[in-house]
Amino acid sequence: MTNADWAAAADVDFTLPSAARIYDYNLGGSHNFAVDRAVAEQVNQAMPDLPLIHRANRSFLRRVVRVLADAGIRQFLDMGSGIPTVGNVHEIAQRAAPESRIVYVDVDPVAVTHSNAILADNDRAAAIRADVRNATGILEDPTVRSVIDFSQPVGVLMLTVLHYISDEDHPLELVRTYRDAIVPGSYLAISHGTMESSTGDQTKAGVQAGVRSKIPTTMRGRAEITRMFDGFDLIEPGIVFAPEWRPDSLNDTFRDEPDRSATIVGVGVKR
Ligand code: SAM
Repeated sequence: MTNADWAAAADVDFTLPSAARIYDYNLGGSHNFAVDRAVAEQVNQAMPDLPLIHRANRSFLRRVVRVLADAGIRQFLDMGSGIPTVGNVHEIAQRAAPESRIVYVDVDPVAVTHSNAILADNDRAAAIRADVRNATGILEDPTVRSVIDFSQPVGVLMLTVLHYISDEDHPLELVRTYRDAIVPGSYLAISHGTMESSTGDQTKAGVQAGVRSKIPTTMRGRAEITRMFDGFDLIEPGIVFAPEWRPDSLNDTFRDEPDRSATIVGVGVKR
């Protein structure tokens, strides 16, 4: 499938930039269009660390899925999953345990079309197009229910998606709705943009550039992100910057300057 085929299959509006495709562009992917690249360049100009911040987050995703797989988690609900790129959740989880089951959820049509294409031969993984704010709809979705058994522990991933949810949409309550649907022993992983770092001014400029391009985000602080884990016991090392969470390589992005990731993360196990 060519890029034009993806776009046609996904029914893309070429005039609107998308967070998923900007992220794809910054990670070196090819599922993005002129409008996305133009906005990415504007935001990156305001926030030069952003492509590396995206890499640091993606690296956290790989580590967290490995840790959850090692902890015995065999089902993953990946909210705001993005466009498949190197090291996707199903690849990592099914490499660790082939029986692992994964549902990807994203609002972006390209992300979902591309995910479904690469999952065509994988009967233990699926992707649905949905807005994470519609928690009830997602939790009752027939595809989700056919892949995920909610009587068993689930790993819920909310990685760099909650900062697209404004305060008016009550992100804390949203996370609690997902929490209440999973059994004790399930895990929640969050990564979230923050201005509480030495590079806060750069992040603020990036947020302003995003707002001008109609991609608003709400950065949050450590205290608020910690509250998202109400009802969970945080596993080590707790709430930290992304590169500080169980680093496995000296070469990880921002390993020596973790706060430059401008991304606070945590992983908790449901009580
Ligand atoms: N979670 C992946 C990761 O961490 O590598 C992708 C992160 S990407 C920066 C953010 C993703 O969230 C995009 O794919 C975007 O389409 C998706 N997203 C933003 N708001 C959303 C919403 N309300 N519902 C579902 N997905 C959303």
